[in-house]
Amino acid sequence: MEKLKLLHMYPNMLDLYGDSGNVEILSYRCRERGIELEVSTHMIGDRETDFTQFDIIYLGGGADFEQQLLAEDLLSCKDKIAAAYNAGSFFLMICGGYQLMGQYYKDSNGEKIPGLGLFDYYTSASTDKRCRCIGNIVVETEIDGEKYKVIGFENHGGQTVNVKSPFGKVLYGNGNEFESSAEGYTEENVIATYLHGPLLSKNPKLSDRIISYCMTVRQGVKYLPKPLNDKLENDCRKQLFERLGV
Ligand code: GLN
Repeated sequence: MEKLKLLHMYPNMLDLYGDSGNVEILSYRCRERGIELEVSTHMIGDRETDFTQFDIIYLGGGADFEQQLLAEDLLSCKDKIAAAYNAGSFFLMICGGYQLMGQYYKDSNGEKIPGLGLFDYYTSASTDKRCRCIGNIVVETEIDGEKYKVIGFENHGGQTVNVKSPFGKVLYGNGNEFESSAEGYTEENVIATYLHGPLLSKNPKLSDRIISYCMTVRQGVKYLPKPLNDKLENDCRKQLFERLGV
């Protein structure tokens, strides 16, 4: 049986709005293709994590308080995480996790939480705690040259700027900033987004894009995951797009 390895970072602290569901969806969609997804965790204080052995590194979203608590541990892993990124591990990051991989996150108390600095973007929140981007969001991204609508839910005070390659174009909702046209950040081995949902349950093609990337790297030839029955997901998506007028 083929195997992929996923590292879930700080699952006890970064898990807003069902973000851990993304790991379950990846496990399920791997299993249906005869691939075992072995899931490990990295918690504060774990010194032995060998980040480079993982195909997928996953961070969910979190409140300012949790982000502040784990920032020091994250920074202490900087070189090892950068090595995994350079070696081609796939990084999936949601909201708070997305913010912490950039230069910094200035939180709603005005405190600057240093980021890992893996990417150029940086994020600041207003000190008016009511000033947040909240609600449904739809962005248009590209998968294998085809446009794909990604739907989710955003709830963030942070406004992210200096984003060189956004994940998608906002069709509904806010995105990286209030009323922004751009959302998230992407590279061949990176998806960073403000979308909760959990993201992958509502957007099955995104999971397959990640599985396909990892298996292609593993096998050295383009891997096309066998199609699954996504009728329920696609019917839900259609209904939501109609309701939101996108
Ligand atoms: N605390 C961050 C913010 O408010 C991230 C929130 C989240 O992960 N949903 O912007």
